[in-house]
Formats: sequence, structure tokens, C-alpha cells
Amino acid sequence: MRRAHLTTRRIAFAFAPLIVAGLTLGAAPPPAAPDYSKVEIKTTDLGNKTYMLEGQGGNITVAVGDDGVIMVDTEFAPLHDKIKAAVAKVSPQPIKYIVNTHYHGDHTGGDAPFQKDGAIVVAHTNINKRLAMPMPNALTGVTPPAVSGDALPKQPYTGETTTVMVKGRAAQVMHEPNAHTDGDSAVYFADANVLAAGDIVSIGNRYPNIDIAVGGNIKGIIAAVDNYLKIANDNTKIVPGHGNLMTKADLTAYRTLMVTARDRVAKLISEGKSEDDVVNAKPIQDLEKQAGANEMATTNFVRLIYRSLKA
Ligand SMILES: [Zn+2]
Repeated sequence: MRRAHLTTRRIAFAFAPLIVAGLTLGAAPPPAAPDYSKVEIKTTDLGNKTYMLEGQGGNITVAVGDDGVIMVDTEFAPLHDKIKAAVAKVSPQPIKYIVNTHYHGDHTGGDAPFQKDGAIVVAHTNINKRLAMPMPNALTGVTPPAVSGDALPKQPYTGETTTVMVKGRAAQVMHEPNAHTDGDSAVYFADANVLAAGDIVSIGNRYPNIDIAVGGNIKGIIAAVDNYLKIANDNTKIVPGHGNLMTKADLTAYRTLMVTARDRVAKLISEGKSEDDVVNAKPIQDLEKQAGANEMATTNFVRLIYRSLKA
């Protein structure tokens, strides 16, 4: 069921310009289901018993303690066995805690099977809210189905921070308000100097998505990146929500991209331009190459920045 919803969402996003132009989803061809059996989990050793896992969906961070493992995000439910096997290769300890960086299905899809195994998912309380009562996507109008039971984080937190501990390891969990979504968490493992940034930082042929239907905002993305830059030093390993491992220098360049895009859209808004006028002015065409994105992604990013700044 979650698999179907994710596929629908992804395809719907791909056809977003058609929707914006007033055509209906019915015009889109049927989605091809991703073949999870072909996905391999790649493990990167980040030092101090901390690892980055890449499969399909958002990046996963794994911190191994003496009596348990803390994991950040879970990708998709059908990958549960493969992710579990990858973790078992680096530790015989059980996965005790999972932290969700945000509610999107490519980061939380595996929560249900991992919680069935006994892990406890820690997440900002807004993740529970969004999973239980989803909102229509701002670009596509598609509403994902609600989830319940083991698919909902068992340990929601409110407030700015929380700490998750197993023997010998601690995860500092920081809520970043109204950034990629309204329920974002960053996770810092100080002993390994590893920061799991969530989709506030997404690179590799894309811009970050700004989920404005649930309070996401370019201003919050930039504020969160500024917080990350305060935490990071030249040796920090930054695990983005999507894309390759990053350094502080990479994150600084990413911040410049975000700020430049925001400033250019803000300037056009101050001149009284409409959303379509701003899109047609192609304000960030020169940044498209730097982001490695395509024209459709650039258009969507500009729309989401525009709506962020108008919100
Ligand atoms: Zn996301």
C-alpha cells in the first residue's frame, strides 16, 4: 500500500508541469513500479563505528553502540531485509532506535517493519501528524494515504531537541522548523563528527524539494543550513538526504545556491511579478547546471520558492 502511494507520488511529481497547466493526472501514463529486488545497499564507513547506507530513497546513517544500534531513516519497506542485513554486517547488536528526518515515504517507508522488529522510531511530533493525516502535495494535488499502527513513530518528540542513547553512543536530534517540511530533524553524532542532514540538504541532479503544503519554506531551509554550518567543522561528514557524502565546503556552496535562488525570486516578487512571470523570467537558469537539475526541476523549485516567500 505504501509502495503504491510512493509510486503515485513520484510519478505525479514528474508530471507536475502538466498539472500546473491544468491537465489532470489521468493524462499521465501508468507508473512503472520500482524493482526493489535489484537494489543493493552500499555501506560507507564514516569512522568511529558510524556508517552511511545508500540503497533506494533517502540516505541512511547508522551508529553502532555497545548494546544497540541507532539508525537514521529507513528508506522503503520492501528494502527492510536488505537494510537489516547491511546493519548486521557492521554490528551484531539490535537496531534499538530509529530517527526519522521527516515524514516522506522514501525515508519512513521501512518504519513499520523495523518497529515490528522491536526498534523504536523517534520523530518530531509533526511527522506523526503528517503520516496520520496527509495533506495534498502543493504541486500535484495528490494526497498520500494515511498510515497507522507500526508505521507511526512510537516516540514522537516536541520542542527543539531530544537525545537518543544506546550504550556508548548518543544522537543529538534537532528540530529544524519549517524547512523541507514542518517536521524536520537533523541528527548529529558528535563522537563521530557525522551530521545526518535530512532532505534539507539534497544534492545530485536535484534541488531540495520544499514541501510547502506542510509548512516547508525556503527560509527555513536556509536557516537550517546555517545551523548545520555552525555545528560543522572541516572534518565533519555530512550525510545529505539524497546525494553523496558532503564536507563543510560542499555545504557552504549549497547554501550559496539556496540564498542566490531565494534572493533572485524575492527581487522579482518585490517588482510585483506573478508566479508565472517569475517562472518565465528564468531567474536561476544559470544555477541549473550547478545543481545538475533539469528545466522542469528548476521551474518547480522557482514555484516553490515563490510560494514560500508569499506564504
Ligand atoms: Zn523528503
